Amino acid sequence: MIVRSLGIDLGTANTLVFIPHRGVVINEPSVVAISVDENRVLAIGSEAREMLGRTPDLIKTYKPLKDGVIADYRITEAMLRYFINKAIGGWRIFKPDVIISVPAGITSTERRAVLDAAKEAGSREAFVVKEPILAALGAGVPINSPAGNMLVNIGGGTTEVAVISLGGIVTWASVRVAGNKMDLAIADYIKKKYNLAIGERTAEEIKIKIGTALPIKNKDEIEIRGLDLGEGLPKNIILNSSEIAEALGPTLKEIIQAIKFVLSETPPELAADVMDRGILMAGGGALLRNVDELVTKATGVPAYVAEDAFFCVAKGTGVVLDNLDVYKKSLMTKK
Ligand code: ADP
Ligand code: MG
Repeated sequence: MIVRSLGIDLGTANTLVFIPHRGVVINEPSVVAISVDENRVLAIGSEAREMLGRTPDLIKTYKPLKDGVIADYRITEAMLRYFINKAIGGWRIFKPDVIISVPAGITSTERRAVLDAAKEAGSREAFVVKEPILAALGAGVPINSPAGNMLVNIGGGTTEVAVISLGGIVTWASVRVAGNKMDLAIADYIKKKYNLAIGERTAEEIKIKIGTALPIKNKDEIEIRGLDLGEGLPKNIILNSSEIAEALGPTLKEIIQAIKFVLSETPPELAADVMDRGILMAGGGALLRNVDELVTKATGVPAYVAEDAFFCVAKGTGVVLDNLDVYKKSLMTKK
């Protein structure tokens, strides 16, 4: 099959590639491993992520995106090239047109960097579309209607909150508080309470396995291994989900504040629509248990986690690619 176009959810934590009529063909961490002496790419994606926190001096792992934008241009380009090639396979008669998601608050310089990297990485035409628009489309929201819809996308590095109406973003906020900060908060909590050091990946595993945004009755438990900071030796402890809710409290509060801020800035008619329709949540961070309930409680507006929350942005690129005319307004090509 010849691939003429594809969509890329270029995330701080994960990159997804969507091919129309095929779906998500790539879902890998945005990580690149480089050899220090030769400055050569050793591994990209899942393979590189396995090396995180385990590299000898001669290998360095990079996350080339920070807060949703390119922090390291050359490495982002190498990563994009690899994912594009992997997605379209061996047949390269045509260069594909590519749509890439970008944060709502992207600057023109940052946008140019994404477009240039996509071109260099082997695309024909490159477009960028703002992430909240794509998340809404992927969740099945009719964004071109004259009604307000609120999207909250919790990723790895940032949480983006936006109210969309008539195909455009009316009010929005972006905070550098999302999944990664939750992991740090968990590691910090365990360090303070148990005098135990754990790695980034263990913290994430705890969050995914037993994490919750609100304390729950039937507590789940997990046994983890860390490094006792007193004795300097490995030690196992058992954690329960209410401890994780406690650890995540302050971080989640910052996300709630961003949502409240956007609600307060939204024109009354649109805010009324949001009250009626509720807040739609997407992104990997929205998979934290009870996060919708917490948002509902804290804002008084019913919140829902989108079906396929993790894939909304990627699926949204598919909606745009299938209806380029309808969403022309949302595409940004020029620099
Ligand atoms: P980005 O768009 O920034 O790449 P993603 O939307 O891919 O981010 O989300 C990545 C974040 O989602 C990570 O911090 C990851 O730990 C978190 N995540 C994934 N699954 C879950 C889960 N079941 N519960 C809580 N957090 C999760
Ligand atoms: Mg994302």
